[in-house]
Amino acid sequence: MVQEISSSYLPGEIEARWYRVWEERGYFSAWPNPERQPYTIMIPLPNVTGALHMGHGLGHTIQDFYTRRARMMGYETLWQPGTDHAGIATQVLVEKELTNEGVDRRSLGREAFVERVWEWKRRYGGRILEQMRRLGDSCDWERERFTMDEGLSLAVRTAFVRWFDDGLIYRGNRIINWCPRCMTAISDIEVDHEDIAGELVTFRYKLAPAPGVAEDESAVESGTGDIAVATTRIETMLGDSGVVVHPDDERYKTMVGKTVVHPFFPERVMPIVADDAVDPEFGTGAVKATPAHDPLDFEIGQRHGLEQINILDGRAHLNDRAGRWRGQDRYEARRSVLEELRGRGLVDAIERPYVHSVGHCSRCGTEIEPWLSEQWFVRMKSLAEPAIEAVRDGRVTLVPERFVKSYISWMENIRDWCISRQLWWGHRIPVWYCDDCGEVFAALEDPVECRKCSSEGIRQDEDVLDTWFSSQLWPFSTLGWPEETEDLDYFYPTTLMATGYDILYLWVARMIAAGLYFMGDVPFREVFLHGIVRDFEGKKMSKSIGNVVDPLDMVERYGADALRFSLGFATVPGNDTNISEERIEGARNFANKLWNASRFVFLSIGDERPGLPELAALDDEDRWILSRLDHTIEEIGRDLDSYNLAEAMRSLYSFVWSEYCDWYIELAKLKLTGPKSEGTKGVLVFVLDNILRLLHPAMPFITEELYSRLHGEDHSIMRAKWPGPPGLRDAGAEQRIDRFMDLVTALRRLRADHGIPPATKMPVLVAPGRYRDELAGMKAALVALAKLESLEVVDAFPSSPDRAQTITGAGMEASVALGDVVDVGAESERLHRRIAAAGEDMELAERKLSNGQFTAKAPAAVVDKERAKLAEARAARDKLQAQLEALTRH
Ligand SMILES: [Zn+2]
Ligand SMILES: [Zn+2]
Repeated sequence: MVQEISSSYLPGEIEARWYRVWEERGYFSAWPNPERQPYTIMIPLPNVTGALHMGHGLGHTIQDFYTRRARMMGYETLWQPGTDHAGIATQVLVEKELTNEGVDRRSLGREAFVERVWEWKRRYGGRILEQMRRLGDSCDWERERFTMDEGLSLAVRTAFVRWFDDGLIYRGNRIINWCPRCMTAISDIEVDHEDIAGELVTFRYKLAPAPGVAEDESAVESGTGDIAVATTRIETMLGDSGVVVHPDDERYKTMVGKTVVHPFFPERVMPIVADDAVDPEFGTGAVKATPAHDPLDFEIGQRHGLEQINILDGRAHLNDRAGRWRGQDRYEARRSVLEELRGRGLVDAIERPYVHSVGHCSRCGTEIEPWLSEQWFVRMKSLAEPAIEAVRDGRVTLVPERFVKSYISWMENIRDWCISRQLWWGHRIPVWYCDDCGEVFAALEDPVECRKCSSEGIRQDEDVLDTWFSSQLWPFSTLGWPEETEDLDYFYPTTLMATGYDILYLWVARMIAAGLYFMGDVPFREVFLHGIVRDFEGKKMSKSIGNVVDPLDMVERYGADALRFSLGFATVPGNDTNISEERIEGARNFANKLWNASRFVFLSIGDERPGLPELAALDDEDRWILSRLDHTIEEIGRDLDSYNLAEAMRSLYSFVWSEYCDWYIELAKLKLTGPKSEGTKGVLVFVLDNILRLLHPAMPFITEELYSRLHGEDHSIMRAKWPGPPGLRDAGAEQRIDRFMDLVTALRRLRADHGIPPATKMPVLVAPGRYRDELAGMKAALVALAKLESLEVVDAFPSSPDRAQTITGAGMEASVALGDVVDVGAESERLHRRIAAAGEDMELAERKLSNGQFTAKAPAAVVDKERAKLAEARAARDKLQAQLEALTRH
């Protein structure tokens, strides 16, 4: 039974071995089981093109934590894995591959291109799933799904057709984010906003002559001849169809209702309208309206009936509506339109550089063009209403609660969802057009003829669906929907959705709306919203700053358990998680501490596996550690139920490191050879067994390895029970051991303060006050843990001058004759030296702080740091001086 146990923990070999065993034994599988309650987590599906980053590390730590804990609690637990086909991301990646081979996707043709993407997916699409195994993710791999596999494709079509037939999907001309390189509409989250140094041009539109007044008289008649507007995209003035001012703006009161003339298209007469959406503080307070090229102008234009003049083609080149600018690209036109306006004396000012935020395609970096185009949309209002209600009435709980308000306000103001993408990779929109009778219809299966006139002259829409159309169905499409499966019946609604708060609107909200519509019930009961992972100083991780911590590197260096524990240790719902290599290293040290403590227990018990003895037979320290375990289990349970992982990890860490390892094991060592050794062993094993089970969800590998050594290879910790409080509270024992620990700590401090070397055994007098009896029982343990030569219990200390004294919180006093344990001469010399050094530190800081230049110019944080240094040095000096006085009092 006794196996060799290495003197340090080596994660690499242990992790690979156990992961294989778990998979082989089918521990990750879940089946509908009427005897148990289900517990289901749907993975926020990673992109098929993805590589594991620290954000996944955090998300997966949380999901695997709750998955493993639920399994131990006896739930039928499903963690559903899979990947997203990630339309534009994947298409751009394969396009780049083709470009390197000198091939353009258009010359390849749609079918061959899509086949090429599938080939890529078959070859590389599993990479991130392999990486997830390194973290210890206990997903049910047999259920792995892909958003374009057969079943999920059927779900997508079913959902589309149902919404289409229910009138929730329509085609319309709207402003969307357009990437002129990818030649597709993209969603808001695919747009990166970056500040660029552009220009702000202020130019003037001349008022149109009033009817019946000669042109040269108009300026006189209206009192003012023109109106100035400002823009960062001067070329868009070619598509202007109006000028807008705020209704309360006195400057323009008389102009509202009048018209201006376009300098390049004299036949275009544009009204001046008043609208609340205009910010009177910006620029001149009057703005040009380009309804086809700006989302706000589009809305204003609809309210006032302004013409939509689309001047760009899909490549962002000027089209026929741009007159003689036709064919120029947008940047060229930006220069030449400005030149032309200046030539006509219409430009008032050019501010350059003018720094402003501009959207870029997150896939290829091209500047986004807000573009009016014909797209498919989902009407969101009626879908959003029940989704608001579900959060308001608590059928879905958001953690932390502060997100409820922003969720509701976002959903109340939701815009229609543009679901069409001009891509080839994705779910093709199942809509057909009849060339003969004009019928437009959606169909579940590819039709061969028009459903209205039976003509065979029909063609399918060229576009594909936004990737998020399929991922909104994920909580039920993965379980077999639209079929009525046993899985769907059992696992839906799922239990927990753990995801980043950054996709609350984009994904979580849409899943709630879709779940209520298609399933008639919410997709999950609780949503744990975590933050993003930042570096230790709270900076966003980025390649350009060079502060990216790679999770796989960390697993390689410190083990998956260390990475997971350190992430859990820093995770509070709704907050970002700061991580550094030092933290992960700290968690590795914790794993080592646990390993060494377990090693000590194994060596002590040999082949025995003693059970927990009768409480009556146990000493105070045994009852104390059992009582502390009881508290810890209760606290952890409470923290985990409210998703406060950080607090739970902190309780566990301090219980294991300090109470179990540093105190209980040290006390146990004193008794393992004595008559009470059986009881001690029983307690050592009982507490260790509980610790391993409590730590398993955070540190699955090391706990499995140690558990199997404790109970045998056939007993997996994955099948063990999650601990509940064992009912072993003992307030009396806790108080007595607290006093004991206080006294040991006081004696250790006394030793440190007076430079008594750790190896020197010191004789000590203790005046225990009212704890005289209690102290008698603790004497041997005190002598051992505080490394004393002797301990004498007295009522009061003799009044010799060189005694150093200390007092505990409970009022017990201890005293040591310094002359007996230190070389007074050498020690006082050492103290003098250190006092001098502290004095120098103080002087240095004082000099800096008295320098007016420094305090005025240095950043506040630097000055504060200097003040702290001064305070620290002063405190150190005072303490050393007191020690010196105690030493040389005679
Ligand atoms: Zn692009
Ligand atoms: Zn027809």
